[in-house]
This record gives sequence, structure tokens and C-alpha cells, in this order.
Amino acid sequence: MEPDRYICPNCLSNEISKHNIVEHIDRVYSVLYEKGFNDIQRDHITIELVSKARMRELYQEIDAAGLHSGYSNIWNEQGRTGFNQKIYVLDHLHYIEFEAILAHELIHGWQLQQNIDDYNRQSTESDESSKARTEGFAQLGSYIIYKRRFEEAKILYESPKNSIEKDTARIIMRLCRFHLKIAKESNDPMYGVAFNKILEHKRKVGWLEIIREARMDELKKYV
Ligand SMILES: [Zn+2]
Repeated sequence: MEPDRYICPNCLSNEISKHNIVEHIDRVYSVLYEKGFNDIQRDHITIELVSKARMRELYQEIDAAGLHSGYSNIWNEQGRTGFNQKIYVLDHLHYIEFEAILAHELIHGWQLQQNIDDYNRQSTESDESSKARTEGFAQLGSYIIYKRRFEEAKILYESPKNSIEKDTARIIMRLCRFHLKIAKESNDPMYGVAFNKILEHKRKVGWLEIIREARMDELKKYV
């Protein structure tokens, strides 16, 4: 572990590593596909675990936990854009936190592929609202993971096979509830305010409609 990081025993015993990463990546894709992001072009995206020092080198951000970087190249004459996208996620995270960060970054990957990321949006509006919409929408990815993991743990908690299973379920529920609460109460213009506006709208219209609106760049009506 790097000198400026401490990881508690519970997270350490559930950490993501090269031995279990594939199953968790598969899991995130399948949950996102199920919600309606079934056109994420998986073969355009590579995922890498990196140390905090490496993350700093890549992005010059002190507390970056997960960051996505996309590079586009034109691959046909109609101007359609293809991608070689790299997602970097901090190493040694609890597997649920890894999944949540990855889901956020994969939605950025999808946004880039759809040409609706603020990075490739041709718009006259202020950079702030465009960025808030991009980040707020990507934050749905983390929400999807924490909510799903919470619900699964709740089922286990209510009918465990033994006391170990019950304890495990309790810890997972606590972890997920903590992250869902932070997102709900956050005042951050992107990860809090914009995210909550988008989530509120999702509750009215459902996943398929909100994804359609994002694809058509119609979220700007309310974010
Ligand atoms: Zn983001």
C-alpha cells in the first residue's frame, strides 16, 4: 500500500484485485445493460487498476478516485466517431466501490460513444451546465450499483443461512446506504444537485425514457 493510504480490514478483505476484477467488470456491464445502456461498445473500452501515485500522474488530481479518459478518432467518412477509451480506477478498493466508480465511468464511455459528453458536445451554453449534466447523468451509474447491491444484501439479511451471512449483509447494506445518503444530500452542483434532478426525473419517466432523453440531449430541459 502507498504511504498516504490506509484501508480498513473489512475493505481489504473485500478488495478488488487482478484475481477477481473480471467477474466484477462483467457484473457492472450486465447491470447497466439491463437498465437500458445495452449499446455500450465494450470492445472500445479498456479498464485498468492504478495506484494513487499513478492516478495523480495521469490527472494531476490529488483525491481522484476514478477517472475516465477518452480519445476519439474518425473511422468513416460520414464523420462517425470511433473510440479507444481507457478507464482508470484506483486499486485496492472494496469491490462494491470499484463497481460504483466503474459504472460511473462506463456511462461516460457511453456518453462519448453517443457524442453527448460535454467533451464533444457542440453547444453555446455555459460549460458549467453542460458539465453538470454530463457528470450528474454518469452518477446514475454509481446509484444503480449501490441500490442493487443494497437490495440484494437486504434479501440476504432477512433470510440468512447463518450468522456470518447476516453480518456480511449488514455491512454491505451499511456501505451502500452511506454512499446513497451522501449522493442524496450532496450540494455539489454536478454530483449532487444535477444528479438528484436527473434521478427525480428518472423516477417519473423510467430508465428507458431517461436514457432516450440523454441520447437526444434533452436533459437540458431540466438540468
Ligand atoms: Zn465523471
